[in-house]
Amino acid sequence: MTSYAENSVTVLGLGPMGRTLAGAFLNAGLRTIVWNRTPGRDRELVERGAVSARSAEEAAAASRLIVVCVVNYDASDAILRRDAVTDALEGRTVVQLTADTPNRARDTEQWAAGHGIRYLDGAIMTPTSTIGTADAAIIYSGPEDLYREHQPVLNALGGTHTHLGEEIGRAAAYDIALLDIFWTAMAGYAHALAVATAEGITARELAPFAKGIGAILPPIFEEAAEEVDTGSFSGEDNPITSAVSSMAHIVQASEANGIDAGVMRAAESVARRVVGLGHGTDGFMRVAEVLGRREARQ
Ligand code: NDP
Repeated sequence: MTSYAENSVTVLGLGPMGRTLAGAFLNAGLRTIVWNRTPGRDRELVERGAVSARSAEEAAAASRLIVVCVVNYDASDAILRRDAVTDALEGRTVVQLTADTPNRARDTEQWAAGHGIRYLDGAIMTPTSTIGTADAAIIYSGPEDLYREHQPVLNALGGTHTHLGEEIGRAAAYDIALLDIFWTAMAGYAHALAVATAEGITARELAPFAKGIGAILPPIFEEAAEEVDTGSFSGEDNPITSAVSSMAHIVQASEANGIDAGVMRAAESVARRVVGLGHGTDGFMRVAEVLGRREARQ
């Protein structure tokens, strides 16, 4: 096995996030070895002192800790599962900061265990601009002792680091759930702007009011979490029948303007199903319970 420097870290993948991670390690004074499939993306990092590896196996062999950050696990498999790289990784720790699904994380853990590679899975919850600052948020799952061992180096990425448990799929599961919120909210906002624009309201005119809607959500999220965990969905102040009516108005107004209302139709349809199941006096979050029912998933 090639020897490595104790205070070094390798970053495989130099997209916008990988470059930012490598930059944060450099700023923290760590010897940083970098590699990317397409050459040349490391130019600025090298000017700042990073070591450009000639191959992924050279990069893997150069550190005890290898951070991977590429587009998805197909890409990380294409890098890590080549024999030369897999051999170079034996006995080392891979921290996977690529986003994908919990099952891909589980599959990667099995592969790693079969090749004597220590493995932590993680997800970056904040944009590149936060890395190295107090606003970064990174979550991890996998063996806790491994996480503690590498935490001092990972802390160079700044912000809050949270180990969520030993089950390897947990970080990806949090990531998926949180991205679910993000992308459905973004789809809702994009749709709202299309409808508003069709009604002669500019996006800038709507924006302050849209921010107001965003601001009422945090306490609603807390309340909804309590309801889902306790299985009690009070619709006293706002029954789901009222939500269905409001959603129908959005569908009508969209379609009157020739705007596809598919996203809202999907939400309305599931809310109507909840009413049809006899939960019309419950609050909207009964939807989570109904969606999660085993028969609903079959
Ligand atoms: P991308 O998601 O676009 O990933 C680009 C990287 O993936 C490049 O290094 C690219 O290499 C590599 N890549 C793609 N396909 C392959 C392949 N088949 N084999 C080898 N390498 C491949 O950019 P980001 O850097 O922004 O994101 C990386 C990860 O970080 C993603 O999982 C993303 O979800 C996550 N993330 C990103 C955030 C952001 O703000 N950017 C925020 C939070 C998480 P090449 O240059 O050769 O194409």
